[in-house]
Parts: sequence; C-alpha cells; structure tokens
Amino acid sequence: MSIVARLAKRLQKINPSSTLTITSKAKKLRSEGRDIIALSAGEPDFDTPEFIKKAAIEAIDTGFTKYTPTTGTPELKKIICEKFKRDNSLDYTPEQIVVSCGAKHSIFNTLLVLVNRQDEVVMPSPYWVSYPEMVNLCEGKPCFIKTSPDNNFKITAKDLEKHISPKTKLLILNSPSNPTGCVYSIEELKEIARVCIKKNIFVISDEIYEKIIYDNLNHVSIASLNKEIYALTITVNGLSKSYSMTGWRIGYLGAPLDIVEAISKLQDHSTSNPTSISQKAAVAALNAPDDFTKSMCREFQKRRNYIATRLSKIKKIGFVLPQGAFYMFCDISKTELDSVTFADRLLEEASVAVIPGDGFGRDDYVRLSFATSMEQIEKAMDRLESWLNNL
Ligand code: PMP
Repeated sequence: MSIVARLAKRLQKINPSSTLTITSKAKKLRSEGRDIIALSAGEPDFDTPEFIKKAAIEAIDTGFTKYTPTTGTPELKKIICEKFKRDNSLDYTPEQIVVSCGAKHSIFNTLLVLVNRQDEVVMPSPYWVSYPEMVNLCEGKPCFIKTSPDNNFKITAKDLEKHISPKTKLLILNSPSNPTGCVYSIEELKEIARVCIKKNIFVISDEIYEKIIYDNLNHVSIASLNKEIYALTITVNGLSKSYSMTGWRIGYLGAPLDIVEAISKLQDHSTSNPTSISQKAAVAALNAPDDFTKSMCREFQKRRNYIATRLSKIKKIGFVLPQGAFYMFCDISKTELDSVTFADRLLEEASVAVIPGDGFGRDDYVRLSFATSMEQIEKAMDRLESWLNNL
C-alpha cells in the first residue's frame, strides 16, 4: 500500500508549511558553519518577561500541576474578560471564554465546530498559511478574496459581497495581518460587518497581533461594533506575540454561548485543558501593565522604519509599509524569480533566510521578518542589496 493510500483522505490535500521548509534549510546550513541571517522568524526575538516566568515557577513549586477545567481556570477566564472589556470594549462573561493551546488551536477548534463538508470559508488573500489548510482539514472549501497593494492588501465590503455564495459559512479576518501588516480601520470594519450581518455569516477575528501596531493606530475588534456582529463573531487572541510567549501555548477566544459549549465539548475529548503552569503565567501577564509590550512594539517600529528606508533604495523590490505585526511583504516580481527560487537562491548565495510568498497566496512576494536584532537586520539589508544588484 502506498503511503498516500495509508493516510486518511483529509490529510491528502494538506501542504507542508513553506515557513518550516526554509527554516530547516537555514538551520542545516548554520550547523555546517555558515553565517546565516534569518529574516524568517514568526515569533518575537525578545525573552519572556521575568515576572511571567516567576509566576510559572511558583505554579510548579506550589503544585499547580494537575488538570484544570477544560476551558481554563476561573481565575484566568475572569482576567481575560477584563482584558476584552479594557482593551477591546467587548462584554464577554467567563462562560463565553475558552482558553486553548495557542490561538492556532482556538481557530482550529472554531472551524471544527462550525464548518460542514463543502462549506465555504472566505478569507482575504494573502492569508496566513494555516487558514486554508485548517479549512481543508475540516473538509470545507477555502475561498480567497484577492487583495491589492493599492488598497494595502485589504478587502472591501464590496469584494466580500461578491465572494459570498449560499454555501458561505464564515469569514476569517486578521488585523493586524500576517503577512501583509495591514490594519483595518473602524469604518472599513463597519462596512464588512454590515455585509456579514446581511448575509448571516460568522466571522473569526484573529487579533493575535493586536498589540503590535504602529504610528499610533488603534486596533478595533469587529465584535465591538454592534450587537448583531457580536452575535456572529468569534474573537481570537493569545499571549504568543504580545508577551513573547510562543512556546507557552496559550490562546483564547470569546464567542456566543452555543459555539463556546461546542468547543468545550470538542476540547474535553481532544486536548483537555491547556497547561496549568502556562495558565498561571498568563494570569500574571494579563494582570500587569503593558510596559513590556509597549517597549517591544517601539523597537519593532524602529526596525520597520529602518528596513523601509533601505528597501526604498532597492529598485528590484516593492513593498507596502506595514501598520502592524513584524513582517514586510515584499514584491519581487521585477526579479522575474518565483518566490521559492528567490528564497532558495538568497539563502544559498547571500546567506539570508526569508519566507517564500507562495504559502501565503502570492508567488511574486517574499516575507521578511524583523523579529531579529537591528545589527542582524543591517547586515541582512547589505547582503540583500548587493545580491540583488548582481542578479
Ligand atoms: N494567527 C496568526 C496570523 C499568526 O501569525 C499566528 C502565529 N504565527 C497565530 C495565529 C498562532 O499563534 P499561537 O502561537 O497563539 O498559536
């Protein structure tokens, strides 16, 4: 029996992650002694703050090491409700919260409880690599709304309406966005919400980069706009990016009760609770003032500005200035290379790792992450510039 025939059909459509392919190539070259600069990271390069680590150590020392309620401890869920109220003007009760093993897990759970076979899930393209694959795993159909750099890679209400069919079940929105860094304004969200209400489609609002936002822009949660859209929205967030806690695996969502109850059952019979120790760390993080996050964000903004200045002098690269997250999504069409060849050659010939755009839906783009030190970024820009000049 071939390997493919041995596996369940639902796995056959799934592509390997392009992010991981280039990262493992870069690691291999590094282990062979090459001085590789990685502009490929999907996580902040800062250490988790000390006071958060201490809360976790205390959890271990005091024996907080057993199962907790599946959807999270009452203590953490209460603090998440306070956070939603304070930062997002959202009223959720603890019964409307599910804490999971990362925002990725929260999104996957939501899709599993909402999507039937062949249901359509619309999303702006470029998209985060995992969205279409998660929809495929649920045997739904990912449907892409192509966006343009001329509108900062954002969909309009009109675009959305055109892509809605009787089979459309939900929309996935991600603001600030990975990979484009676009941020939706309140006016844009109001228009999008109007269409979702009219067509009765759910929204997964992935707000994981909420705190990594520049130029004094305000993040807006679509569910906060009115009662009708609140009743259709699953608001997803987590601690990975805002507190540099990617390895701790804490994500959460707020949603209407029936959806939360379904996710709770699903989590009961799959992963159970997220790690008890990480939940204690999350309580400490969400209870503290935002100082760490703000200073990290200021540093990201400096790096973004530096990269933008350097890239604007390179004729073969185009970009839209990101308003949030920590990526530059770069147009490489002038090089006439596809994104995988571009990334492969840049790594082999100039020792700089970037992520090909094909996994995000744009084979004429690559993603540069600025979650690395300014010193590394300066060197990487020198290498990129001279490599492109000789291409
Ligand atoms: N959504 C987006 C857009 C992301 O970029 C990521 C992380 N790369 C996630 C969700 C998942 O984050 P977590 O670590 O909380 O699972």
